[in-house]
This record gives sequence, C-alpha cells and structure tokens, in this order.
Amino acid sequence: MSDSLKINLTILPEERLRLAFSEDAEWFKECFSADELPEFSLVRADVNCFITRAGDTIFIRGELAAQISQECSRCLELATIPIGGDFTYTLVPVKEETAENMELTAQELETSCYRGDFIDLAPIICEQIVLRVPMKILCTEDCKGLCPRCGINLNTDSCYCHSDVVDDRLAVLKNFKVKN
Ligand SMILES: [Zn+2]
Ligand SMILES: [Zn+2]
Repeated sequence: MSDSLKINLTILPEERLRLAFSEDAEWFKECFSADELPEFSLVRADVNCFITRAGDTIFIRGELAAQISQECSRCLELATIPIGGDFTYTLVPVKEETAENMELTAQELETSCYRGDFIDLAPIICEQIVLRVPMKILCTEDCKGLCPRCGINLNTDSCYCHSDVVDDRLAVLKNFKVKN
C-alpha cells in the first residue's frame, strides 16, 4: 500500500510529474513504530504533489488537506479538525562523505537526501501531517470543557457545581483569615 508513494526516479518524466493521492488512518499508523505513534489519528489525507528534477536534485512541491482526530483537550470528546497547507522539499542524492561528516550547514538542513533510484513520499507526507497538528486540539473554539468538580461535559449537560466552586474559594479564604 505505502509502496504506491515510492517514486521511481529512472522513469521520472522530463516535465513535472503530478501525483494526487489519498491516504487513511491505517496507512498513517503503518508509518510509525508502535512506541512512536502520535497521540492523534489521521482520518484522511488528500495530497497533490508536483515533482520536478534538475540533474540529481529533486524538487517536491505539494498541497496537503487532511483531517485528524484527537481528544478535545477541554472536554475529552473525540474532536476532528482540518489541517493542511503547502510544502516544498529539495532532495539530493546521499553522499557517503556527508553522511559521515555530520557538520551540516544551514542550507543542507533544508535539504533532504535520497538513496538509490527511489524517493518515498510517505515519510514526507507523515512529517507534514505531524508538523501541522496544533499543540492544543479543541472540538470547537468555545468548548466549555468538563466541570472541574463533577466531570460532566458542560457542552451537553449542566450541573450546579459552578457556584459551589466560587463559594468554596471564599470559604477557604474565610478559614485562612480566621486562622490568622
Ligand atoms: Zn471540547
Ligand atoms: Zn459539576
């Protein structure tokens, strides 16, 4: 399945190659080892890629539109949010000397390497997905979250705890004053 994202450079056309593909949750999971799995899961990723070459250098320009799901960081319900954007990569063939000499210049850091006659787009797409997931996932911008006392989901239910929380704080304050 992930082999479909391997590009054979020996048959890359002179003009740019356009690749459009969609991937799902299973594909995304297979890109990671079990202990490296991200907290979120991929729902679907649509990718549009343009691949051009200049000699040995391969340029990849792409557009990613994906949906990911993860627990809302306030209410803990599963939230699905859109992510995406444009990306570019420059790939050069790996040289054995540069692999040994790890002193990379700034320019080299923006450039990835490939080995042999194939480029695998899977790690590139996975990296783009991971990079674009926000630190904090919310089901909606104004998610009310869970009640800190009874744990009820305040988006769908209501409780009478809120006023108690305020009262408790005042009570603590009162006690504090009394002790002094
Ligand atoms: Zn929420
Ligand atoms: Zn409550």
